[in-house]
Order: sequence, then structure tokens, then C-alpha cells
Amino acid sequence: MRRVVCPGSFDPVTNGHLDIVSRAAQLYDEVVVAVLRNPNKQALFTVDERVEMLREVTKSHDNVTVTRFDGLIVDFCRANDISAIIKGLRAVSDFDYEMQMAQMNYSQAGVETLFMTTNPLYAFLSSSLAKDFAKYGGDVSGLVPSPVADRLAARLRGG
Ligand code: ADP
Repeated sequence: MRRVVCPGSFDPVTNGHLDIVSRAAQLYDEVVVAVLRNPNKQALFTVDERVEMLREVTKSHDNVTVTRFDGLIVDFCRANDISAIIKGLRAVSDFDYEMQMAQMNYSQAGVETLFMTTNPLYAFLSSSLAKDFAKYGGDVSGLVPSPVADRLAARLRGG
């Protein structure tokens, strides 16, 4: 069984994330989307809420599962028999940091990282941008899946 992990904060999941996960699901037997709590970022949604939204928007893919994790992604990979990490790359600005992490994860734990180039439709898109846009009344229906747009609107109203 070829199993791969897509790790990230997903606060919240965007159409850019979903595009990478769907394409990975065509290449691998199983894709595990792993949601991490990033202590360096102030989150809008709890990890459980992010997991719930991801499950909702990936439910049409039989071979995608969603879970949370704390700690090192390479430990998660070892514990779940996963040999590779898939990361989406939007622009060269993503590259320096991602390359360092990939080399670190390979040298320390032998876990490979595969980079998938973004769909140009979503090259500009990040969770932060979608949240900012929504905060100032922008229409995010082309940026995030519709259940996520609803949750975003509700959260920004204070719900
Ligand atoms: P992090 O908090 O680690 O930056 P994110 O939740 O922002 O995680 O993103 C998770 C993964 O999805 C990363 O590999 C990131 O590069 C990728 N990604 C984010 N947005 C896009 C996009 N618009 N197109 C392609 N890949 C993306």
C-alpha cells in the first residue's frame, strides 16, 4: 500500500489545499491529511474544527483520511507506515523553507518529500489571505469550498 501524508495547518482548508489533496489521491493508494497545531500562528479554528471541515470537503475521495497530529511529522510517518510527504509549492518564496525541511526530514529519518506545483488558479491563495478577504466582507466562494465559506462567515460574525 503506497501511503502519503499531506501535512499543514489548514486554518481553514482552501481550494488550493483541496487541489493538491485530490491530485495526490490519484497518485497514491491512500492520502492522509494531517492537521497540526502551529504554536507560532494564531488560529481562527480549533484543530478539531479544521479536521471536521477537511473530512466534509474530502468525503467524495474514498482513499483520503484526515487526522490530527502533534510533534514531528517524521514520527507521524514512522508510526503510520508512511514513506513520503507531499507539499504544494506556490512560488519560489515557498521553496527555501520547504527545501530545508525536506532535507532535514530525509537526513534525520529517511522520509522523502515530494513537491507538487500549485494549480495556477490557486497560486496566490493561502488560508491567511482567504481569512483577511472574508474579514473585510470579500466573497470567498471561489477561494474555499462552500461549507468552509459558511463556517468562515459564521466565525467572523462571532459564532
Ligand atoms: P503551513 O501552516 O504548514 O504553511 P498550510 O495549511 O498553509 O500549512 O499549507 C499546507 C500545505 O499546502 C503546504 O505544503 C502549502 O505549501 C500547501 N498549500 C497551501 N496553499 C496552497 C495553494 N494555494 N496551492 C498549492 N499548495 C498550497
